[in-house]
Amino acid sequence: MAKRSVFISGGGPAGLAAALLFDQLGWDEIVLAERRPSPSDFEKNKSFNYLVDRRGLRILERLGIADRMYQCGVDTTNFTATTIAPDGSVHTRVVPIIDPDRPTCFWTTRRALLTMLYCAIEEKGSERLRVLYGHGVAGIERSDDGRVSVKVENPAGDIEAFAPDLILACDGLNSAIRAALIEQSETPAGFFDMIAGDSISTGLRYKVLNLPSQFTAAGGKVAVNDNRMSYIIPSRHKDRRKACALYAFPVVDPSHPRSVNLIREGDHELWTLKSGEELLAWMEDSFPQLDVRALVSREEADDFVGLEAGAFPAPQYARNLHIALGPDSAKTQVLLIGDAAHAFPPDLGLGVNAALQDLDILAKEIDQAGSIEQAATRYAKMRWPEARDLVWVVEKTFPEQYNHRPLRLKLWALGFFGRWGLHKLAPGLFDKPAFLLSQDPDMPYGEMKRRKLRTDFRFRALVGGIAAILTAGLATLTFS
Ligand SMILES: Cc1cc2nc3c(=O)[nH]c(=O)nc-3n(C[C@H](O)[C@H](O)[C@H](O)COP(=O)(O)OP(=O)(O)OC[C@H]3O[C@@H](n4cnc5c(N)ncnc54)[C@H](O)[C@@H]3O)c2cc1C
Repeated sequence: MAKRSVFISGGGPAGLAAALLFDQLGWDEIVLAERRPSPSDFEKNKSFNYLVDRRGLRILERLGIADRMYQCGVDTTNFTATTIAPDGSVHTRVVPIIDPDRPTCFWTTRRALLTMLYCAIEEKGSERLRVLYGHGVAGIERSDDGRVSVKVENPAGDIEAFAPDLILACDGLNSAIRAALIEQSETPAGFFDMIAGDSISTGLRYKVLNLPSQFTAAGGKVAVNDNRMSYIIPSRHKDRRKACALYAFPVVDPSHPRSVNLIREGDHELWTLKSGEELLAWMEDSFPQLDVRALVSREEADDFVGLEAGAFPAPQYARNLHIALGPDSAKTQVLLIGDAAHAFPPDLGLGVNAALQDLDILAKEIDQAGSIEQAATRYAKMRWPEARDLVWVVEKTFPEQYNHRPLRLKLWALGFFGRWGLHKLAPGLFDKPAFLLSQDPDMPYGEMKRRKLRTDFRFRALVGGIAAILTAGLATLTFS
C-alpha cells in the first residue's frame, strides 16, 4: 500500500494509540490535533478508572507497549474489594460476579493511560508524527474542485488546514469530524446519525472527588493503604435521594490520590450542595466511618462543588462508520473510531477497550487490504455490526449496578445467580449470565447478544413454567 498522510482528530486513548499505529505502519505524515492545552492537562472530571482487558491490550501488544501496563496499571484477574461500613465494620471479599478465569486485566486511570501513550510517542521521536496540543478541530473545508481539508484552530486563534488521505475521528462522543461530515454534499441524509438506545443508567450524573493516597477510617482502626485493593465506602443512608457510595479502585502509584466517582441521579441531594462547606457537612453526615475533614480539604471540596457534573450518555452508535469524500483523483477516507463511533454509560467498562479494539481491527484490515480505501471499507463492514451489538449488550446487561433503583438491582441479582446456577447444571441449555459473557475478551458482541437472548428466553420459559405448575397445583389443592 502506498504510504500516505493521516489526520487524527482528538488525543484521547484512541487518538494517541492511532498516532503510534500509523507511525509503526510507516505512513509519511501523521498529524494529531488535540484541543486540551498540553499532554499534562487532564480534565478533572474525567479522572476515570479504566479496566483494560485483552480487547484493549491487543493493539498495545502490536505497538510493543503492552508491558508498560505493568508500570501504569495494576494487574488483576478477579475483583477483591474491602467494604468499610458506616458502623466501622470491615469485610474483604472477592466480588462473586467477576469471572475468575478471565485473562489478566489492568486497573489504570485515564491520566496514567494517556501519559503512557504520550510518552511512547515522545520516546519514538518520529519526525513524521506531530502531536498538536491546544489545537481544536473546527470542521471540514472543501476546495473548488471538492478536495477535502480539515480546519484546525491553533492556540493563537488562527485557522490551519490539513489535507490528508485519511481522517480518523477519534474526538469522542461529540465528534467535530462527525458533525462536519453530516454537512458534506456526498453525505446522504441521516448517514452519520447516532442511533440511541435506552438504559436506566443514562442521565446518571457524576463527579470525581480526590481522597488522599492513604488514610485511615473507622476512628483510625482501618487503614486504607493497599494501592492494589478496591475500597467501597457506603453511606449510612438508604433513601435513594440520600444514599451514595464511594468506590476507590486500585492505583499503581501508592502516592497517587484515590479518585472516587460519585454517581447519582439528577434529583440526589448531592447536586443541591452549594459550597465546599455544605459538601463537607453532607459527607460527615453520610459517612460516619470517615474523618471527612482530615481527608477532604476545603479547597478540594470547593473544587468539587464548582465542577459541572457529567451525565452518562445514552448507549448509541453511528449509523455508518466510513465515507470517502472528494474527487476520484484525490479521495479522502474518513473513519469513526472509539466514542465517536459508539458511546455508552460505563456499566461494563468497555468504552476504552472498544476504542482500542477498533484500532486493532483497523490495523488488521490495513495489513490485508491493497489500498486504504479497501481497508477503510472493510473496517466499517467488520466493525459496524459489532458496534451495534456492543451497544445492545451494554444497554441490556447491567445498568442496575449503581443501585439507584434498589429493587431493580435485587431482581438483577436474582436473575444473575439463577442463570449462573442453571448454567452450572445444564451448560448446554443455559449460557453464563451476560455480565460474565461480557468479561470474555474473545467473544464477539454479536455472539454475546445471541447467547443472552437464547438464555433469557429459556430462563423466562422455565420460570413461567414453574409458576404455571405451582399455580395449577395450588388451584387443585384449593378445589379438592
Ligand atoms: C464517568 C465515565 C466513566 C467511564 N469509565 C470507564 C471505564 O471504567 N472503562 C472504560 O473502558 N471506559 C470508561 N468510560 C468511557 C471511556 O472514557 C471512553 O469510552 C474512552 O475514553 C473513549 O476513548 P476515545 O479516545 O474514543 O474518546 P475520548 O476519550 O473522549 O477522547 C476524545 C479526545 O478528543 C478531544 N477532542 C474532542 N473534540 C475535539 C476537537 N474538536 N478538536 C480536538 N480535540 C478534540 C478530547 O479533548 C479528548 O481528548 C467512562 C466514561 C465516563 C463518562
